[in-house]
Amino acid sequence: MDLRITCIPGDGIGPEIVAEAKKVLDKVAEVYGHKMNYTDILMGGASIDVHGVPLTDEAIATAKAADAVLMGSIGGNTTTSPWYKLPPNLRPEAGLLKIRKALNLFANLRPAYLYSELAGACPLKEEISAQGFDMLIMRELTGGLYFGDRKTIEENGVLKAIDTLTYDENEIRRIAIKGFDIAMKRRKKVTSVDKANVLDSSRLWRKVVEEVAKDYPEVTLEHMLVDNCAMQLVKDPAQFDVILTENMFGDILSDEASMVTGSIGMLSSASLNDTKFGLYEPSHGSAPDIAGMDIANPIATILSASMMLRYSFDLDKEADAIDAAVKKVLQDGFRTGDIMSEGCTKVGCSQMGSLIAERIA
Ligand code: NAD
Repeated sequence: MDLRITCIPGDGIGPEIVAEAKKVLDKVAEVYGHKMNYTDILMGGASIDVHGVPLTDEAIATAKAADAVLMGSIGGNTTTSPWYKLPPNLRPEAGLLKIRKALNLFANLRPAYLYSELAGACPLKEEISAQGFDMLIMRELTGGLYFGDRKTIEENGVLKAIDTLTYDENEIRRIAIKGFDIAMKRRKKVTSVDKANVLDSSRLWRKVVEEVAKDYPEVTLEHMLVDNCAMQLVKDPAQFDVILTENMFGDILSDEASMVTGSIGMLSSASLNDTKFGLYEPSHGSAPDIAGMDIANPIATILSASMMLRYSFDLDKEADAIDAAVKKVLQDGFRTGDIMSEGCTKVGCSQMGSLIAERIA
């Protein structure tokens, strides 16, 4: 298969971790007989330095012409970097918002998986972490409270702020379909999270999710109120497969789920539109404090490349091979500094990429 991939190395550790993800993808191509066609574009600070803006229209056109986008991370030190003296619409992060909008990326996926080898980093009680967990949070990304009308007014000398939470049935249906499609590739369980005991938007959410569920008889659907979900994530995370939820609830729950894994350098993510197209990136930032030192953990980006193969190219076997190679490297005792523990062998970013590539079978 010919894969057209736009790469955004970005800033800070971005170029180092994307190089390692490419190394692993190239090995997958060699073993499984595919052809990777990469085109790099600039975004964030790297684009500001060359073009004066965080993302050009030409770069967007290049991204649109590909089948998927693989990104490192963007941004610099927000206190010292000259990029943050610019107006907000010209700062590095504006590039990210612009590309998400231009590509209509409405579905955000964040897996939270506890590797038994890294269970020591999990902040939960041992009897809970011993069960392990493997969940994926599917968050609606372009609607709800963050995109509704908002204003602050003064009434009788009292300031009053108003935010509006709106969802129409089409916005709910398209993310629900994504959630069920992805559950079909996993353990076939969807937990739809809402606040249907209070909010009309949640009652509509529940109704539409139930309609969509009828087309997926193999998937078990359960509903959970968001406050209960926040508790269950720390009490019994093993119960979850796909958590499907709206924008603000997903924002909060996905950070909570990430934290219970305890390892920021391991967390991948994807943002999808209603075709197979997606943008894949680690959940962490550009870590300017360790940029250029060959000590960053490339695994989150390598696992993002695995998600890309699975969700944009339907190459499940190849994605499984990457996931298995990551697990094997951890079993073999190799660690970057951020996940280092006693008795393990410390390696740099580039060596970690090579060790994973070597284990692709
Ligand atoms: P960060 O995630 O970059 O770093 C937080 C801490 O985690 C740092 O100590 C860093 O060294 C460490 N860390 C992060 N990733 C690591 C990895 N792969 N291996 C080893 N250690 C790692 O968060 P921050 O410092 O708050 O942000 C730095 C910059 O990144 C800012 O400009 C911010 O806006 C940007 N950012 C970008 C994205 C993105 O590109 N999507 C996301 C978050 C933050």
